Amino acid sequence: MSPNSCPICSRSTEAGVTMRNSGTGDGQHIVCPQCGEYELTGPHVFEESRNWNFKPALSCATRQASDAGQLLRVTTENATGFSEGHSRTRANENVGKLLSLIARRSGRPGRAADIRPTIDFTLIDCYSVQEFAAYIGWVVDDRLVKAPPRSGLGQLMVPTHGDKSVQLSLTMSGWNQVQPLPQTGGIPGRCFVAMWFSEETRTAYENGIEPAVSDAGFKPIRIDKKEHNNEIPDEIIAEIRNCQFMVADFTGQRAGVYYEAGFAMGLGRSVIWCCRKDEIEKLHFDTNHKNHIDWQTPQELRERLYTRIRSTILDQA
Ligand SMILES: [Zn+2]
Repeated sequence: MSPNSCPICSRSTEAGVTMRNSGTGDGQHIVCPQCGEYELTGPHVFEESRNWNFKPALSCATRQASDAGQLLRVTTENATGFSEGHSRTRANENVGKLLSLIARRSGRPGRAADIRPTIDFTLIDCYSVQEFAAYIGWVVDDRLVKAPPRSGLGQLMVPTHGDKSVQLSLTMSGWNQVQPLPQTGGIPGRCFVAMWFSEETRTAYENGIEPAVSDAGFKPIRIDKKEHNNEIPDEIIAEIRNCQFMVADFTGQRAGVYYEAGFAMGLGRSVIWCCRKDEIEKLHFDTNHKNHIDWQTPQELRERLYTRIRSTILDQA
């Protein structure tokens, strides 16, 4: 038996729902303004769907998938699972979804998004248009979204029935939440050098790394201290925090160099990876996919490192 209204939200064909056989047995392909485009398939699924008590969350699932270009094929077996992902959304997560929706629809800062609350409330995890209107009130209160016009009584004019839309645009604080700045920091001009300090690598520093970093206009910071009990001295941690970027040379395969490079990456600093060519096969598997400067002589290291700093670090500035 074919339904004559959207099996999830009960919206009628007069209200814009279209249905056709999906071509797979008794499946139906449904396009609904509220639930998006989805399929309902399987024996008795239409009869059973009448008793589903999770339809508000399922409507969010099908609509958000559809908006992202994905067609959900809903069956008796998977319907609960689809709805669960939208039934316990935290309020602050939903605020994030609303801000992203406005950002996506408005396209560029300064422009407004055209939102139709009566059908668009399922684009975030709301069960009703009233809930959606409450979220709009909260993001306006938090100055993340510019207030739509208010009624004579001071109420925000958010249409909760009919086809009317509301124009919403993000404030700068709203954009900052949607597009957080990449983590930056450190003192411009400082380059921390992580490497094995030994007689074997002395010339790599003195004739390779040190002049390359200086010639590129940065101050190389090297802390020639031994690790004690496998602990990285506080002074090294502080200098990594202070650096703009890091040069890490893995020749000698010291655990401390891996640790320091990982810490720098966690802070969002760029790391330039180097290793003497005869050791390139020994690199730890988690990092050996990095684009290492595999050098053979300090002079080669100097030239290639200089070029790498000029092309990657200076381009970021
Ligand atoms: Zn629907």
